[in-house]
Amino acid sequence: MANPVKIKAVVTEAVHHTGSVASYRFAPQGRVPKFHAGQFLHIALDEYHPDAQWPESRVFSIASAPSARHEELAVTISVKGRFTERIFQTLEKGSECWLKLPYGEFLFPPDRHLTLIAGGVGITPYLSLLKQMLEEKSGQGVALCYGVRSAEYYLFEDLINRCEAELPNFGKTVWCEDGSVPGEKGILNIDAIHSAAPEHSLFYLSGPPAMIRSFKNRLRDLGVEAERICVDDWE
Ligand SMILES: Cc1cc2nc3c(=O)[nH]c(=O)nc-3n(C[C@H](O)[C@H](O)[C@H](O)COP(=O)(O)OP(=O)(O)OC[C@H]3O[C@@H](n4cnc5c(N)ncnc54)[C@H](O)[C@@H]3O)c2cc1C
Repeated sequence: MANPVKIKAVVTEAVHHTGSVASYRFAPQGRVPKFHAGQFLHIALDEYHPDAQWPESRVFSIASAPSARHEELAVTISVKGRFTERIFQTLEKGSECWLKLPYGEFLFPPDRHLTLIAGGVGITPYLSLLKQMLEEKSGQGVALCYGVRSAEYYLFEDLINRCEAELPNFGKTVWCEDGSVPGEKGILNIDAIHSAAPEHSLFYLSGPPAMIRSFKNRLRDLGVEAERICVDDWE
């Protein structure tokens, strides 16, 4: 795994999807180390001086493709508390910030079937993988199970549709609480997801902590070995 590197970055695009969720693209101003889909970075808003301490920062999944790292890095952020509110209110096109990467062990083996379960903004650690799979025209078996509150929260529809159209072994099911997105109505159903998965699929869980806890317990009750359950723990 590459050693984490600190890089200044300029925001090239800021998109507010809702009143509390936004995506940012950054143009890195230095050498970006190799990273893997599923890894995360730190964002600091205050100036970093190499002879001083790293400023206050928070961590976010890298949402851009690993191959694009010299041109762009991307994240999607949901406002949670003080720091994410500051990001949401202050980062705009042209803003400078500092990034530190790569980190994390939420990785996707290329030779296994993957069942990717995302609750809301928990979709973010999968975006890099989906972009990489499109570039590689990957034949890997992937089932994306995405739970959203309503159509307003259904992010990255174009990317997901492209995966469905262009990848031979990619499938998606969207669970939408108010039924405003085509698919299943209601919240993610772990029993249905489990019964649709091939025998040796790896289950990836990303989303609210309560969802992760209950899905992990239920998968274990259903006989899924701990080694086949991978969790992106945001707590
Ligand atoms: C691996 C990983 C990937 C993630 N990916 C994403 C993502 O892609 N998108 C997304 O929206 N969220 C993501 N998160 C969650 C995100 O990091 C939190 O929502 C964010 O840290 C909230 O910060 P906050 O200050 O706004 O919220 P708060 O709830 O106020 O603070 C969150 C935590 O920050 C720490 N903290 C508080 N004050 C300080 C301080 N002064 N200095 C240092 N630490 C402090 C505390 O541990 C606190 O519990 C991820 C988290 C992890 C662990």
